[in-house]
Amino acid sequence: MNFLEERIVKDGIVKDGNVLKVDSFLNHQMDIELFNEIGKEFKRRFEGKNINKILTIEASGIGIACIVAQYFNAPVVFAKKTKSINLEGEMYVAEVESFTHKCKNQVIVAKKFLSEDDHVLLIDDFLANGCALQGLIQIVQSAGATVEGIGIVIEKGFQAGGRVIRNLGFQLESLAIVDNMNTETGEVYFREQ
Ligand code: 5GP
Repeated sequence: MNFLEERIVKDGIVKDGNVLKVDSFLNHQMDIELFNEIGKEFKRRFEGKNINKILTIEASGIGIACIVAQYFNAPVVFAKKTKSINLEGEMYVAEVESFTHKCKNQVIVAKKFLSEDDHVLLIDDFLANGCALQGLIQIVQSAGATVEGIGIVIEKGFQAGGRVIRNLGFQLESLAIVDNMNTETGEVYFREQ
């Protein structure tokens, strides 16, 4: 087991509805030492890639992306889920269905922060059905920018997202792939990588 899988076994909680709760270290309280290990590992996996921007989605992706970005010396842009009054000018918009909230959101990035010169690493906490990622990919492609890679902290391998995104030809790196979870025993089974 790698460092992240060990942490999931120690502190992750399996909930009904195929939800893995990791809010004690990943998406509510955040363990920054762990985030640093995640950053180092993504740097290793995307070594040699020409990455000048990190794109993520609010809210849980932001903290992770910020720590990861330090290993790439790149700025972070996060897609917004609501059109705040501070969003000015032209925007890229994609429609995304939320797995956890079971609703449709628009994700929005101001055009001035993404251009055809950008080589983008997409970062997110979870990959389930892949809707969030597909929205981000669509935004990068609308900008004429290049997706250099995709870094996911936890992929739920029993949902379709990972397969769909890999079939599209992207380099998708998930630090832990959960192939099965047992709600009764709380056990989590990982894919060998
Ligand atoms: P997708 O769009 O791939 O179906 O879902 C991705 C998003 O849903 C992630 O950004 C994450 O916020 C949320 N998500 C999906 N599955 C889980 C889960 O099992 N646990 C948690 N904590 N979040 C999840």
